[in-house]
Amino acid sequence: MDKATLCVSSQVGCKMGCLFCMTGKQGFQGNLTANEILNQVKSLPERNTLTNIVYMGMGEPFDNLVEVMKSLEILTSEWGFAMSPRRITVSTIGIIHH
Ligand code: SF4
Repeated sequence: MDKATLCVSSQVGCKMGCLFCMTGKQGFQGNLTANEILNQVKSLPERNTLTNIVYMGMGEPFDNLVEVMKSLEILTSEWGFAMSPRRITVSTIGIIHH
């Protein structure tokens, strides 16, 4: 089966400053809401042929956990997008709480 994967952002900019990343160099401008995260899917003309979503655009998903979890619930709920969780990947560098 052909795969079509969309990469979505969870923030505008990023605080993490990973050295290899251009987003890290631009600094942090703000968190996206769950609706703004989902709009990246909804506004895509090819949305009906999407098979996978990966949270790997701008931002660190664990640094915007509440909105990211809301968006994941809507993507995977029967009353929402009804996507299988197996088709969604959250890419994170991990956040350590001290
Ligand atoms: S966490 Fe991701 S978006 Fe943020 S600086 Fe690192 S690689 Fe870039």
